[in-house]
Amino acid sequence: MAINRKTITNSPIELKKFRGREIYIKRDDLLDPEFSGNKARKFYYFLVNDFPKIKKVVGYGSNQSNAMFSLSVLAKKKRWKFEYYTDHISSYLKENPVGNYKNALANKMRLIVGEGEPKREDIEDKQTLFVDEGGRQMEARFGIRMLAQEIKLWQQANSINRLNIFLPSGTGTTALFLQKSLLEIDSRFQTKVYTVPCVGDIDYLRLQFSMLEESTLKYPSIVQPSKKYHFGKLYRESYKIWLELRDDMGIEFDMLYDPVGWLTLMENPKIFKESTLYIHQGGHLGNESMLMRYRRKYGEDI
Ligand SMILES: *Cc1c(COP(=O)(O)O)cnc(C)c1O
Repeated sequence: MAINRKTITNSPIELKKFRGREIYIKRDDLLDPEFSGNKARKFYYFLVNDFPKIKKVVGYGSNQSNAMFSLSVLAKKKRWKFEYYTDHISSYLKENPVGNYKNALANKMRLIVGEGEPKREDIEDKQTLFVDEGGRQMEARFGIRMLAQEIKLWQQANSINRLNIFLPSGTGTTALFLQKSLLEIDSRFQTKVYTVPCVGDIDYLRLQFSMLEESTLKYPSIVQPSKKYHFGKLYRESYKIWLELRDDMGIEFDMLYDPVGWLTLMENPKIFKESTLYIHQGGHLGNESMLMRYRRKYGEDI
């Protein structure tokens, strides 16, 4: 399916109810069948601008990351080569490819294993574009600003004077640029972004913010989960809330970030004092392997 400006920049906002609370959901998972979620926002700049000299894009990170898959789609659409560095890959996954890994390979990803994290200065040249892990880069501002504009227009059209937004963070790039853009868009409507760290702790997340923005006034508010969740580990309550979200709202959320997101949001009812919007940041392809792990551990009924 061809991507044009319209399909990529207009995801619906749905009003749902969860555990008795009304909540709006921004369905960025529905942006496009292939190029969706926050990685589509982050890489939008590369998609819509011309790079006549570029022949290859290079990235690095985990072998099941959503960013890896989205980069493979970007490369396919731009007719670029795609190389991806990862620390390690299990022989099991190699023999039984699933999820983002399988789909990125189908898009002709060349995987480079165990050579360590590549450095921008070693990779980048006139023909090669280098993208940081998880798409943490200044160019992400462009696509996330469009997300902010869509939200402001919707807020205005529905006369929602004060809005709280919630989204879980990895690198924090999406939450940071979203809050910053919302503050910079001229409007009498107030919009506050809350986020929860899913990869490191609060200090890690603040450090990530500081690499992209100096002014702490433009940072989102960080809320902390009541217990420490290790990224990628399986937790009964994560699986439980994921199933509940799926069954009650008919929406499949991501299994890495969103369970911690929803658990933490539910622990902070003060956020619901204003109209609340949750950003669905995509990632359903990655669920394939997570779901296999969860089913093996807990089954379907818990
Ligand atoms: C990448 C990703 C995140 C984290 O985004 P950051 O901008 O790195 O904070 C959250 N949810 C999903 C589904 C993702 O794919």
